[in-house]
Amino acid sequence: MDKRQKFMERVEKKRDELIALTQDLIRIPTLNPPGEYYRDICEYLDKRLARLGFETELVRAHGTPGDSDKYPRWNIVARYQGAHAGECVHFNSHIDVVEVGQGWSMDPFGGELLDGKIYGRGACDMKGGLATSIIAVEAFLEVWPNFSGAIEISGTADEETGGFGGVAYLSEQGYFSPARVQHVIIPEPLHKDRVCLGHRGVFWAEIETHGRIAHGSMPFLGDCAVRHMGAVMAEMEASLFPALAKKRTDMPVIPEGAKQSTMNINSIHGGQAVPEPGFTGLPSAVVPDSCKMIIDRRFLMEENIEDVEGELRHMLEKIKSERKDFSYDFTPIHSVNPTMTDKAAPVVTTVAAAIEAVLHKKAEYVVSPGTYDQKHIDRIGRMKNCIAYGPGILDLAHQPDEYIEVADMLDSAKVMGLALAELLTGKPAKP
Ligand SMILES: [Zn+2]
Repeated sequence: MDKRQKFMERVEKKRDELIALTQDLIRIPTLNPPGEYYRDICEYLDKRLARLGFETELVRAHGTPGDSDKYPRWNIVARYQGAHAGECVHFNSHIDVVEVGQGWSMDPFGGELLDGKIYGRGACDMKGGLATSIIAVEAFLEVWPNFSGAIEISGTADEETGGFGGVAYLSEQGYFSPARVQHVIIPEPLHKDRVCLGHRGVFWAEIETHGRIAHGSMPFLGDCAVRHMGAVMAEMEASLFPALAKKRTDMPVIPEGAKQSTMNINSIHGGQAVPEPGFTGLPSAVVPDSCKMIIDRRFLMEENIEDVEGELRHMLEKIKSERKDFSYDFTPIHSVNPTMTDKAAPVVTTVAAAIEAVLHKKAEYVVSPGTYDQKHIDRIGRMKNCIAYGPGILDLAHQPDEYIEVADMLDSAKVMGLALAELLTGKPAKP
């Protein structure tokens, strides 16, 4: 029998093991924030991977945002050295999950299996993907024990809050340097038939308008900062949002609505703070002297960050020239450049061929609307041969009753294993 065929049968036989592993991972409630149970999940993965013959290392990201003795930022990096020299393929999954939220009909940390779906917070984003990569590697090692090169699996902290205590830290320590790792696959839930090449860019900023405090019965003696912010919003509606909608991209971003520049207004706060729940007093009569807005602008390969910032500053200057007593502060908070791996990169062509071999259809190339840990691997690690590929439906991420389909995980495990076979044994993924 062809080894590739044998490998795919091995994966099918591991169905129960895959389910149990995914359930175990979901049942460790690694909520972030604050970043709970990182050590527990790393120890669980440590045991599992050491049993397979991996050399493992637990790495605490000391001093990164959120790291404390109460909530230490633990990561695991595991490496399996092959029989001969060769390249290294690295599977990176984040171990953290976002808050549960309202509206669940299932236990969010129960990992229940119902009609071929496993439910729970993190099921698709991305403990299902992590479990899939482990099962894929297990089956691969059984069929190709004498492969060349190395396989690495990492479980990393804090992706949901920027990745600074996870992949960013490991990149700074050299774990993703091109000398150590040549191919990176991040099993985020982009769907089993899609290769995700990268993501759009991010620019966050705070806009503050200033006013002058006065008695609310005589607002003409003060200057209302909230009304000034109203002028900012009016200008955004009149000129900025229509301009952003016209900026289209050649990046294959999904969903369709994200194939352009976008901007979200995250929050506006002006005047008195919202009282504590249970406070029964009345508000006081005061003209607000400050109003703050946080904006989240997503940008394209075709734009650069200076232009994105300049466009916003230009808009604010225009309002200032037209509106009496308008004054503002503009403070950039956070930015990430867009990134997109070349379609001809070896990890891309290999995974695409494996998708075709397993699913008998052409792979779809996509770009994510939001960022993920690829940004650190690209910027700090200088590793350009990186994609996101994994089972699950992106829309379910962060939603109530999040789930992952077992059949999708099995298909993705086959794709991952055939990609390993091509990259580490020279066997083309497509017979
Ligand atoms: Zn994720």
